[in-house]
Amino acid sequence: MIQGSGRCHYHPERAGLGVCVECRRVICRECTTQFEGINRCASCLAQRLEALEGPGERREWTVANVVLALVSMAFVWGSVHVVAGWVAS
Ligand SMILES: [Zn+2]
Ligand SMILES: [Zn+2]
Repeated sequence: MIQGSGRCHYHPERAGLGVCVECRRVICRECTTQFEGINRCASCLAQRLEALEGPGERREWTVANVVLALVSMAFVWGSVHVVAGWVAS
């Protein structure tokens, strides 16, 4: 614990425990959140999570998954026909 680092930006009555890496504000123990091993204040963590779970990224993943499923189905379908051809002849 660092003494004399000031007061929490969100709780003026509480002693500051650390500094948010994003906004450089002094934050108390309750405001400190650890994500990816890095200290952030609650509001910066919320912004970080929003950026991670943006609608754009989610849509890209869905399209990729659908394409992968279609390719897998086509591959299985083709394999079944080849095997059926071998069995018949
Ligand atoms: Zn912050
Ligand atoms: Zn606080």
